[in-house]
Amino acid sequence: MRTGIFYYYQKGERLRDFPQALKGILEKENVFFYDAFYPSKPPSSFEVDPISSEILHQVHSQELVEEVIQTGNFEGALFSATGTVRAAEKIWMGEINNAFVFTGYGDHHAGTIFFGGGCYFNGAAIAIRTLRKRFGAKRFAILDTDAHHGDGTWEIFEADPDVLYVCFCSDPNLEKNNKVNIQVPHRVTDEEYLGIVRNNFFRVMAFQPEILFWNWGYDGTQGDYGDIGLTPHFHILLAKELKEVANKICRGRFIVVLCGGSRRDLARTLIPKLIGVISGE
Ligand SMILES: [Zn+2]
Ligand SMILES: [Zn+2]
Repeated sequence: MRTGIFYYYQKGERLRDFPQALKGILEKENVFFYDAFYPSKPPSSFEVDPISSEILHQVHSQELVEEVIQTGNFEGALFSATGTVRAAEKIWMGEINNAFVFTGYGDHHAGTIFFGGGCYFNGAAIAIRTLRKRFGAKRFAILDTDAHHGDGTWEIFEADPDVLYVCFCSDPNLEKNNKVNIQVPHRVTDEEYLGIVRNNFFRVMAFQPEILFWNWGYDGTQGDYGDIGLTPHFHILLAKELKEVANKICRGRFIVVLCGGSRRDLARTLIPKLIGVISGE
């Protein structure tokens, strides 16, 4: 199993310990580190080209792109989405089997014509449309365990039965055109939440996607801004199970996209462990 780490654009407090915190992982023979931004070079020098506006427009309107430019966060948003798109392409081409994508700005609140909640572009959605267009890929699944509802992802794929989206959040249960919302109580134990996710594995198994995306937010962990009572260990347990699901149904094609969560200490300890799991520790 070859694992790609996509680290295109990072700033801010929560990821301040990276990439140093990946020591021991980056040295592994089956781990490939894709970086675009080197602090020693001018900020404009990137090793990897960002996705083009044509690719962005596969999902987002020109008006949205212009609004994002006005926020001053365009570059970070672009490189965050770029990480997910490049991960998907490299998995499809067989260069790597799975990936972890560091993002400066998340995914799932960004829709066709709207954005919010720290999400500007929807990387998973852009990656899916890119795989479809470039490689003729057909069926995709996204599991979302960020504490909040992925309104952007839901809207983008609302009319698209070939994308299974299962969102676990506090919104009521709903199922429509392979878009599924599963309500999670406001307080849960690790075991309760794991049970809820496991009870929905059958959906992914039955759907038979060619690649599995995991919108991984850790904001639901105790002490973070979406606290629903989870301990840090929950995320590692879930990562192990999702990796197994991907191995069974889609030849291990699995992309973990970092979403919500603000605690720096959790990022520092959880992310290396999680990459350890997907890279076969
Ligand atoms: Zn969230
Ligand atoms: Zn939801």
